[in-house]
Amino acid sequence: MTSITIPGGLLVAIEGIDGAGKSTLAKGLTERLRAHGVAVSTSKEPTNGPWGTKLRQSAESGRLSPEQEVEYLLADRRDHVEQFIEPALQRGEVVILDRYFPSMVAYQGAAGLPVEDLSKANDFAPRPHLMLLLDVEPATGLERIRARGDRPNHFENEDNLALCRQIFLGMPERTKCVIDASKSEADVLEDSYALLIRQFAQNIGGLSLENIGKVGALMEGHLS
Ligand code: ADP
Ligand code: MG
Repeated sequence: MTSITIPGGLLVAIEGIDGAGKSTLAKGLTERLRAHGVAVSTSKEPTNGPWGTKLRQSAESGRLSPEQEVEYLLADRRDHVEQFIEPALQRGEVVILDRYFPSMVAYQGAAGLPVEDLSKANDFAPRPHLMLLLDVEPATGLERIRARGDRPNHFENEDNLALCRQIFLGMPERTKCVIDASKSEADVLEDSYALLIRQFAQNIGGLSLENIGKVGALMEGHLS
């Protein structure tokens, strides 16, 4: 069976503070779309490529300056776009990203760098067709991180996460959808899937006849 693809692909960025449920949602959306026969590529930022790895290693031995973090994150994103994101979109896949450039704007913005400059530095990166912003209270995010068995890192304190949340909520991205991520995992998946399917339907353009039946099944109950 050939997978369902869409001309130009569909870029979906999942954003939000630590513990909001991004990785959980990325997995849930990926599984659900694949079960319906959709071609999906899933990835995260920072990546496991050389720059992302260097960033994580340096962070372990003490915090880098926000400027250095930006340098590594941008280099990582340039590789990611060129080697993974663009090719997958050209193959017509749904590309699901667990964090993308808005996270850098929020986190390094919270660290004191001008939000406008951070935004501009990402002009090279393709805009997401859909930005799912998982919104929760920082205290809820931190509770979930602890329940996950992780010790919060230097980003993960309530004041810093409150600042990140504020920057996320203030972002002007046209395709941003705010999801109430204090809801259950199942509800967050349902709300996000419905938005994704709507966007998918809008982008469909030159779909082959063969795929129309499959897409109908994918959208059932979500186009009202
Ligand atoms: P993030 O990737 O945003 O840091 P995770 O997806 O790792 O967050 O979720 C953090 C923890 O919270 C995990 O243990 C996960 O199982 C749990 N979790 C995720 N979404 C929800 C939710 N909607 N309600 C309650 N717990 C959740
Ligand atoms: Mg995660």
